[in-house]
Amino acid sequence: MGSTIFSKIINKEIPADIVYESNDILAFRDINPQAPVHILIIPKIEIPKISDVNSAEHGIIISKMIDVANELAIKENISDDGFRLVFNCGKNGGQEVYHLHLHLLGGRQMKWPPG
Ligand code: AMP
Repeated sequence: MGSTIFSKIINKEIPADIVYESNDILAFRDINPQAPVHILIIPKIEIPKISDVNSAEHGIIISKMIDVANELAIKENISDDGFRLVFNCGKNGGQEVYHLHLHLLGGRQMKWPPG
């Protein structure tokens, strides 16, 4: 089972710098960080992208992902100064890996609008 590189990380077939794990959520450091703190928070179930979220079960997963992001922001000392949470969705959203993931970015001043 599993069609993306993130499934291989979930199954421990390839290594990752894992910072959080529960029975349904995994979080690990992005291999190509765009900020001093750049963590990806993913569900263990396969949801390709945020526009595929369509059920109460999915809603619970999204809520848990945000809880994990907030906990990790505190742990990484970026909560007080603020941080950014991002879901890239599809081609124009800049999504590269089609396994739902929430980017937690912090430790520097973010710009707006994003590129
Ligand atoms: P996105 O463009 O939103 O799909 O983001 C995919 C992210 O996954 C990028 O920031 C990549 O740097 C990151 N990434 C890809 N492969 C790995 C990996 N093996 N371990 C950690 N992060 C990865």
